[in-house]
Amino acid sequence: MNTFDSGGHLTDAALQAFLSGGPLTELERLEIAEHLDFCDACLLRSMERMPCEVLLTPAHSCQRTLWPRIHRRSARELAGRIATAAAAIAIAASLWCFNVFGGLVTGSAALSDSALSALRQADFPQQAQQFDRTLDARFARLSALFEFGEEAAD
Ligand SMILES: [Zn+2]
Repeated sequence: MNTFDSGGHLTDAALQAFLSGGPLTELERLEIAEHLDFCDACLLRSMERMPCEVLLTPAHSCQRTLWPRIHRRSARELAGRIATAAAAIAIAASLWCFNVFGGLVTGSAALSDSALSALRQADFPQQAQQFDRTLDARFARLSALFEFGEEAAD
C-alpha cells in the first residue's frame, strides 16, 4: 500500500487504514502521524473521515462560564495596575510635600554655583602641580630603594 501520493499527501487507503486501525507497520503509522502534524489538508481529510462517536463532545459547554472568568481576571489585572500607579503617584506626591526634590534642586544649584566653580578652576593647575611634585617624590624614593637593593645584591 502506498502511504503517500505523487503530491506528497496521504492516500485515501493509508488514511482509512490509519483511522480504522488497519494493517500498518509502526514506521507507516509514524510517518502518517508526522505528516498529519504539519499538513492541514490531510488533517482536515482525516477529520472528515472520523466517525462521529470518536469526536467527543463535552458534557457541558464552558462558554457561559469562561467569558465571565476572563472578564473578571482582566478587571483584576487592570485594578492592580491602577493601584500600582496610584501608589507611585502617592509616594511621589509625599516626597514632593516633604520637599525632597527641592533639597536636591538646591544642592544641585549649590554645586553648579559659578563662584565655586571659578574657584575650583583657578585652583586646578596648582593642585595638579602639587600632585605632580608628590608623585615625583614618591618615584624618586622608589627608585632609590631599588638602587639600594641592587647595590646590596652586588
Ligand atoms: Zn498532506
